[in-house]
Amino acid sequence: MQHLEVNLPCGLERGGRFLRTARLRPVSGADEVALADAPALAASRVSALLARCVERIGDERPALADVRELFIGDREALLLHLRRLTFGEALPCVLACPRAGCGETLELPLTVGALLVPPVAEPRAVHETELAGVRVRFRLPTGKVQEAAAELAQREPAVALAELVAACVVDVQDRNGERLDALPAQLVAPLGAVLETLDPQAEMRVSLTCVTCGTPFEALLDAATLLFAELGSGRIFRDVHVLASRYHWSEAAILRLSSERRRHYLALIREEAS
Ligand SMILES: [Zn+2]
Repeated sequence: MQHLEVNLPCGLERGGRFLRTARLRPVSGADEVALADAPALAASRVSALLARCVERIGDERPALADVRELFIGDREALLLHLRRLTFGEALPCVLACPRAGCGETLELPLTVGALLVPPVAEPRAVHETELAGVRVRFRLPTGKVQEAAAELAQREPAVALAELVAACVVDVQDRNGERLDALPAQLVAPLGAVLETLDPQAEMRVSLTCVTCGTPFEALLDAATLLFAELGSGRIFRDVHVLASRYHWSEAAILRLSSERRRHYLALIREEAS
């Protein structure tokens, strides 16, 4: 099986040090079956998939708890590398023009490489910034924080973003050096913007112009949506059905095939049928 060694934008923190390399294997049929049984929330599915396919971070074998401790941008980068390893470099993407009444769909010839950002020069466990005279020490959001915010978003979408930002705060001091209990509400959005600039891989934006109406717009992409759309919900079961019917292989044998090999046999079956 093909493996890939990659650099993480930040890395996994271990006592002030950062483990900045990871080794991945491609998504297998067995992973797709496990994903079909995984929690419905995208952030939790990302954790489940990474825990299976990331074989090493530094020289550790990561568990589910470790991939949940990774920063959001590192998780996005790992998903993009997994996408490359499983389906290749080209990442065609279809976006709809946001202008009311236009409805044009634009095909973007994206590549995985174009979406990956360079690693951060010096990752830090705790950052510090001053917002409107208030000193804030904070951490970058992890997968665990993202999962909690996504779960909250289902029940109380209006407060989920503020909760995500609040979960990152270590401590807050006013201009007199007095410790505050929490981040003032008016500083949630500014701190959110700071988090974005410090973890650029977490927010992948593409700028484009509609070919029909000329409207320029920006779209936010996320690697989980792109990858899960390709892995498809339950597609693996149809694949097993088709291959088992034709070749009489066991389910276990089919699930052991690489995704590439599976697609190859399915293409042959289709070719023969036409
Ligand atoms: Zn348009």
